[in-house]
Amino acid sequence: MIADVVIIGCGPAGLQAGIHSARKKADTVIIGKIGNSALHGAHIENYFGIGGMTDGSVLLKKGLEQALSFGCRHIDLDVIGAAEDGDGFRITVESGEDIVCRSVVIATGISRMKLGIPGEKEFLGKGVSYCAECDCNFYKGLRVAMIGNGSKAAVSAELMTKYASTVYWIDSGISADGSLVDRAREAGVKIIAGIPEKIIGGKNVETLLLSDGSAIEADGIFIELGGRSSSDLAMDLGVMPKADDSIKINNRCETSVERVFACGDVTGRPWQLAKAVGEGAVAGLNAADAAKGAP
Ligand SMILES: Cc1cc2nc3c(=O)[nH]c(=O)nc-3n(C[C@H](O)[C@H](O)[C@H](O)COP(=O)(O)OP(=O)(O)OC[C@H]3O[C@@H](n4cnc5c(N)ncnc54)[C@H](O)[C@@H]3O)c2cc1C
Repeated sequence: MIADVVIIGCGPAGLQAGIHSARKKADTVIIGKIGNSALHGAHIENYFGIGGMTDGSVLLKKGLEQALSFGCRHIDLDVIGAAEDGDGFRITVESGEDIVCRSVVIATGISRMKLGIPGEKEFLGKGVSYCAECDCNFYKGLRVAMIGNGSKAAVSAELMTKYASTVYWIDSGISADGSLVDRAREAGVKIIAGIPEKIIGGKNVETLLLSDGSAIEADGIFIELGGRSSSDLAMDLGVMPKADDSIKINNRCETSVERVFACGDVTGRPWQLAKAVGEGAVAGLNAADAAKGAP
């Protein structure tokens, strides 16, 4: 597929970027799942023009409909790879399809989501990790459990089979594309149905307890929720994230790489809808202009 602008992320920042890009008549593709947006489970009462409590999922649904009505195309999948490609960029989604474009907008929200179970915080750095790509080498010949249902968990589980002796993937409702699940399984990942409840151990992680009472002996627990993290994707595109994983932008929402823009929670605090939408508009307009060679 070919497009002028690809927007990675289907939350309020990405959708607003799509609306403004499409209104500039740029051929625009938005990639991502609205159900994974931080706004999906939120109730909003501090956003301009909205009185009372508004359900975030309603805003997202309407925002997507609006973006489509202006001509955006939507791919309801996660992005698993991004690279510079000649004078543009090549974005790969979990089905394996590539989208080639002139401008990219990173609107992936906050990366490294937490699971929120007992032991997660206590064993961080002592067996609990949020990044298989960063920590895989520490688990050579050891047993690890992967937690997460999306493409990031699938790709990470497959990666860990090259290091760990045993890789369990806890299935609490896998949503990753079937081809990624097959690849993980073929690489030797053992998929176990269950809901993670508690991480226990001594000095380091020893066991993952599931809600049905079963226990999985593991030296490492990888928590990989959502899609490929914004910092991974940014680095693929040549943008170096800041120490806190956010992406530095200027007042045109430009990153350090030409025709790569960022907006929303991924650019840092405040993590608020109004900021996400405002930056989305700026990023969308400038990405469309940049794609079409406008000054
Ligand atoms: C419980 C809660 C309550 C909140 N209450 C308020 C409030 O009252 N007022 C307020 O202003 N703000 C509130 N917020 C914050 C607000 O929801 C966020 O600031 C806003 O959603 C940020 O928008 P975003 O588009 O930057 O990121 P998100 O909404 O998080 O969207 C990110 C998108 O990127 C996608 N994505 C990530 N990785 C990939 C990938 N690899 N490939 C493809 N897509 C990817 C995700 O699927 C998602 O669609 C609340 C947040 C929460 C969690």
